[in-house]
Amino acid sequence: MTAVAVVGLGAMGSRVAARLVAAGHEVTVWNRSAGKAGPLAELGAIPAATPAEAASRAEVLITMVADPAALRAVTEGPDGVGAGASASLTVVEMSTVGPGAVARLASALPPATGLLDAPVLGSLAEAESGSLVIFAGGPAQLVERVSPVLAAVGSVLHVGDLGAGAAAKLMANAALFATLGTLGEAIALARGLGLSAEAAYRVLAATPLAAQAERRRAAIEASEYPPRFRLTLAGKDARLIADAAAAARVDLRLTTAAGTWLAEAEQAGLGDRDYTAMLKTILRGRDSGPSCPRPDAPPAPGAEPAGYDGLIIDLDGVVWRGSDPIPGAAEAIAAVRGGGTPVLFVTNEPRRSRNALAKRLTEIGIPATAADVMTSAAVAARVAGSLPGLANRRALVVGPPALHDEIKGAGFRLVTSDEAAEAEVVVVGGHESFDYRELRAAAAAVRAGAQLLATGRDAVFPMPDGPWPATGAILAAIETAGAAPAVVVGKPERIMFDIARETLAGCARIGMIGDHLITDIEGAKRAGLDAILVLTGTTSRADIERAMTPPDIVLNSLAALPEAIRARS
Ligand code: NAP
Repeated sequence: MTAVAVVGLGAMGSRVAARLVAAGHEVTVWNRSAGKAGPLAELGAIPAATPAEAASRAEVLITMVADPAALRAVTEGPDGVGAGASASLTVVEMSTVGPGAVARLASALPPATGLLDAPVLGSLAEAESGSLVIFAGGPAQLVERVSPVLAAVGSVLHVGDLGAGAAAKLMANAALFATLGTLGEAIALARGLGLSAEAAYRVLAATPLAAQAERRRAAIEASEYPPRFRLTLAGKDARLIADAAAAARVDLRLTTAAGTWLAEAEQAGLGDRDYTAMLKTILRGRDSGPSCPRPDAPPAPGAEPAGYDGLIIDLDGVVWRGSDPIPGAAEAIAAVRGGGTPVLFVTNEPRRSRNALAKRLTEIGIPATAADVMTSAAVAARVAGSLPGLANRRALVVGPPALHDEIKGAGFRLVTSDEAAEAEVVVVGGHESFDYRELRAAAAAVRAGAQLLATGRDAVFPMPDGPWPATGAILAAIETAGAAPAVVVGKPERIMFDIARETLAGCARIGMIGDHLITDIEGAKRAGLDAILVLTGTTSRADIERAMTPPDIVLNSLAALPEAIRARS
């Protein structure tokens, strides 16, 4: 019997502690939220008041916490493991934190205290049955000494010196994330090209993805991903992988791309689901979110007949004006959706997140999730994320918090104005606190070779007291000082319409509804879409006479939409 302590009693730590109790060890436990020690105390574990106290009672102490910050919180300071550690203690660090955090832990412990990094492969079921794979880094005799304790939890693979365990775990997860991403994309492609599910899985069975395809099929088909390894933790691992690779100057392209799917899934609100819910995001528009009815699907009973099988709807001036909903807009959208026509909301406005916009839509009677909304910030993130040849994925963002979040979500590390020289990409979106310091930083980064992206080129946006400077005004300053033109992604640029069309996968007849003759109508026509103008925003009937590109349909307001598409179909 060994005196063992477990610090961190989350999904994994609680199971590890329960196994150690069952194996007959004397187990001390500590968790930040003290309530989680209760069920283990009932099994026979002894709760400690602090991590330091847990360390002072143990011969072997296991840390199993969320991330590097949590590891610092439980090991450093007067209550931390380091404060209670003696020469007779061996600390076994089992969280996934990367080699950097392990090196820092080594310096936080007394020199005579033993330390192994031993993160695990496997999830809740494996932790419960004691069949985790443990990647151990550290001196061989220390690995040998703690192996009898670790045997209750899984099998130990000694992979090298201290830090090698953390490195091995990042490597394993890189393989896992990229494999899952490839599986999701292969299935998305199969669905997009019209292959039946049966045929697609038969094909996958003949590829190296056979085992994964079989294992994930039920979850994919039910679109249910109950949490085992939470997606937020996987996102954290993807960032650890990117940081470690950048520090080691390793060019990871597939893994980075898989990380962007994880980040996008997290932003879509799937952080508390299993990490495999990234498949839901990859297959978005094919098993959830706006998707087109099959051409042979019968119309819903009592449904509005649809002249379009997909609609892209601008928000400002169409669904609402300022903070006021356009009368009848919610009813009109309910009617077209009821007729089986999927709707995607798009906006050039970079200041509000997709989640915030979805929430506002829902508040005014138009149920929506982030997957139903596309912002120019999200499109900028998507374009930035797919730029080739990036070595360190650092970005300088001149824009509102929602744009920062989208770019981070695309797998970028954001740099401050002081670090502008490190940026490979500068992304610009209008925001009210733009200042000279930001202009200087953005211009310096662009002059040093960073690529310049912007969410739009609108010079102003309408406000009750007159037009206010918009993204285009700020962009003009940066382009002038940086001496380089930007790639602009917002409407009327083709890219935004193409991504919207891609999101409405499978729709053949798509209409774009907007209030602006250039941004919405001309943009839509250039992208090959039908253009429907509403007169509740910036355009009057007199303006239409002068339009270079006339709309296909003109409506007084969105409220008239069901009637108009009924007449058309
Ligand atoms: P979890 O259920 O979210 O538990 C996280 C633990 O970390 C909890 O005990 C939490 O305490 C603690 N914690 C978080 N922030 C803290 C802070 N600032 N100070 C002190 N404690 C803090 O996560 P898990 O699934 O057990 O995963 C634990 C580790 O194992 C992670 O590094 C994860 O990546 C890795 N891992 C997980 C799996 C899996 O399938 N779940 C598989 C392999 C590896 P509270 O209870 O107070 O929040």
